[in-house]
Amino acid sequence: MPARDRTPTFRIRTQHTPGLLCLFLASLISGCDKPSEPDLPYGNQQVDGIILILGDGMGLSFITQASLEKGEPLAIEGMPVVGLQRTKSLDGSITDSAAAITAIVTGHKTFNGWIGLDGKGNHVRTLFEEAKQRGWNTAVISTSSVTHATPAGAFVHVVDRKQDEAIAWQLAHNPPDILIGGGRQFFAPRNSDSGPSDPTMNSTSQERPSDPGMNHISRTNESKVPMDLLRNTHSLEFSYVRFMKSDCDSLCVNGESVDRLIALLADDHLPPVAGWDSLEPNEDGKKYHGAAPDDPPTREGFLRLASVRTVRTLLESGKPFLMLVEGSQIDWGGHGKDIRYALRELYDLDETVAALRQEIRGHNILIIFTADHETGGHAILDGKPGQKQKAAFLTNYHTAVMVPVFAAGPGSEQFTGTYENTDLHHKMLAVMNAFALSSSRITDPGGRQNRTRLSESR
Ligand SMILES: [Zn+2]
Repeated sequence: MPARDRTPTFRIRTQHTPGLLCLFLASLISGCDKPSEPDLPYGNQQVDGIILILGDGMGLSFITQASLEKGEPLAIEGMPVVGLQRTKSLDGSITDSAAAITAIVTGHKTFNGWIGLDGKGNHVRTLFEEAKQRGWNTAVISTSSVTHATPAGAFVHVVDRKQDEAIAWQLAHNPPDILIGGGRQFFAPRNSDSGPSDPTMNSTSQERPSDPGMNHISRTNESKVPMDLLRNTHSLEFSYVRFMKSDCDSLCVNGESVDRLIALLADDHLPPVAGWDSLEPNEDGKKYHGAAPDDPPTREGFLRLASVRTVRTLLESGKPFLMLVEGSQIDWGGHGKDIRYALRELYDLDETVAALRQEIRGHNILIIFTADHETGGHAILDGKPGQKQKAAFLTNYHTAVMVPVFAAGPGSEQFTGTYENTDLHHKMLAVMNAFALSSSRITDPGGRQNRTRLSESR
């Protein structure tokens, strides 16, 4: 895919300059008290937006097998900058998705299962909240329920990633401009008083706090359910079929363009690309089947379509934006030791990356493609290019191996090398700060000179 990168030729300053610069900039930006934030290396560079794409559980071995079997490099392999991130959490070498997304979007390591909290249980501001504060638009797209750990990580602060209803409640109070995925059941009216309180704790220990109250989610007087709150601020879409069949170029509901959209297109998770029936039985001989009766049977082309329409809508707004796209189910292929599942989901995400890079050509947009961790301890044992590979899994859980980071666009140079997952936050924040200093603005709202009809790019 011959995307032309417009990576500016600035130099990255690696040393930290103290106080004065920070004081001078304090009226322009926030966050100068954060000790590890790089100092603004991108003055006067225009940044139209940042797209962070996560392949959940996507280790290098999955990428290698996908590339070998395809017989040619994947689109992600064409991104010019490559690095490696270390993924350990406060629990040890092995992270889960909750601690990993917290590290990536807040710059704080935390315990597995926790979202948006540091190791002491304090709320820590996410990059998405920072973006919102600065007047950027925000978007989150996933192929799981939007209450799943990774998409939730953009805006949510909870001590237990399994609290889907608490997460939905927080998302309704602190939503992105655009939210697309599954999880409808967690936003729907069930209990008239379903609203969790703020679950922040204030333990002072670096050990995992053992306060038995920490998992308690109490009710509040909040009378509205999440869906009712969102109805006041966003357009809503609940039909997968209508969403997919629409011939709008950007996001729309009933043929009308919308710029703030909550699209919950399955009761829980969206199906795998090839449908739930395509999965291998697990070690107990059981197949996971997450579909509700009116859920879509398959998910072919969904992620690409949703992502491209979203970026068009964001570009049309004329504001800078921060967007998260998650291919949630690569991880589930690893957990199930089902390499065909993992690879289909990885190809789906790679097609999405190719389409997004085509779409943003000519804009100053940083695009980062990485994983939160590796899943499966997967290895390729034998094979020939262009054919199915002989491969094996060591485990049905995550491993500690470093995961790759691919990047392109303004600021992408700083993503080379090896670093902690928390450094992804610092590097993206530095690019956001560049826009705070920039006097330039998007000059081609909508990017129409690059636009192809979605039907042509399918
Ligand atoms: Zn996992």
